[in-house]
Amino acid sequence: MRETERARARAVIDLAALKANVRALRGKAPGAAFMAVVKADGYGHGAIPCARAAVEAGATWVGTATPQEALALKAHAGLPDDVRVMCWLWTPGGPWREAVEAGIDVSVSAEWALEEVVGAAEAVQKEAAEAVQKEAAEAVQTAAPVQTVARVQLKADTGLGRGGSQPADWAGLVRRALEAERAGHVRITGLWSHLACADEPGHPSTRQQLDRFREMVTYAEAQGVRPEVRHIANSPATLTLPEAHYDLVRPGVAMYGLSPSPDLGAPADLGLRPVMTLTAPVALVKHVPGGHGVSYGHHYVTPGETTLALVPLGYGDGVPRHASGAGPVLIGGKWRTTAGRIAMDQFVVDLGGDDVEAGAEAVLFGPGDRGEPTAEDWAQAAGTIGYEIVTRISARVPRVYV
Ligand code: PLP
Repeated sequence: MRETERARARAVIDLAALKANVRALRGKAPGAAFMAVVKADGYGHGAIPCARAAVEAGATWVGTATPQEALALKAHAGLPDDVRVMCWLWTPGGPWREAVEAGIDVSVSAEWALEEVVGAAEAVQKEAAEAVQKEAAEAVQTAAPVQTVARVQLKADTGLGRGGSQPADWAGLVRRALEAERAGHVRITGLWSHLACADEPGHPSTRQQLDRFREMVTYAEAQGVRPEVRHIANSPATLTLPEAHYDLVRPGVAMYGLSPSPDLGAPADLGLRPVMTLTAPVALVKHVPGGHGVSYGHHYVTPGETTLALVPLGYGDGVPRHASGAGPVLIGGKWRTTAGRIAMDQFVVDLGGDDVEAGAEAVLFGPGDRGEPTAEDWAQAAGTIGYEIVTRISARVPRVYV
């Protein structure tokens, strides 16, 4: 790490930990391919470095929410050609044509959405045919080949009630996808779904979803669908539900070393190591008298003469304002609590008279093995989940990869 990086707030991303997490998760689902979920800039860790590291550790698929995220990976990550990229968040009028050309697997939940992808594939195929004719006529060199058949994965809503085809609409979607496949416009590469409550062990809806998924897959295959992959397992299902593994698992949060839920245990209990450490040098230390109001609204007033430390991170960096007065920080070897409101760029910690120098390290969260708080501790302080704590760390905070 360069000295200038040490002199400012930063999120240190431990790619060796990410790789170890991928290997640990692959060990839980040995028969399944691994899709590294890197949506939302890799849950705040950086989509491209995390995708590359995951692939080095054995991931053969990379998953994103939006097609824009998938296209950016295709364009800039330099992943091996045989690594597949899938996106699942559909919006009408999206860049489906670019996605077809880039060979991205696109999730489809409804017939009208499928028509949009078919239209994109038809346009790509028409243009490719015209280019071939022109080249033959002019005897010029062939342009770089583009993918012309849309890769689609049919999504079943097995009970999450978000994306996906309702069971009642499934037959129509399957029939239309098979027609488009026979016409050479699409290849049905996958059948898939997403679980609602896998992070709550024993929740009855998980069994119902798995039963429904089996029925919907069986129906599609009986009609002639030959998917390369069938998948439904997120992190908790990868960790705890072998019957959900099918051909591929799609862990996100566990790959970044966080537990999907306290009900499943701490990361270490699951063989995982948190990947992100959020740290900053203390910007200022000063002595103040008792009765001194601290930060906007004076929600904290020093109980006596004390020392205050200023930490240069705030809600503009993604530190949740909701954790004001509760978010824990390790400074000078001790856990402290944010004093008063967390502001946009900074917050204050009452050192209780301890002697700490400006420039000392303040660790908001990390793996926890140096005595620092974890993202889960911040989640608890802010009334949210670890997923949100890491994902919201904003672009202003440089990521430093180690
Ligand atoms: N698959 C899909 C479709 C998702 O939206 C997500 C994230 O929410 C994941 C997999 C990964 O989930 P998790 O981070 O719980 O492993």
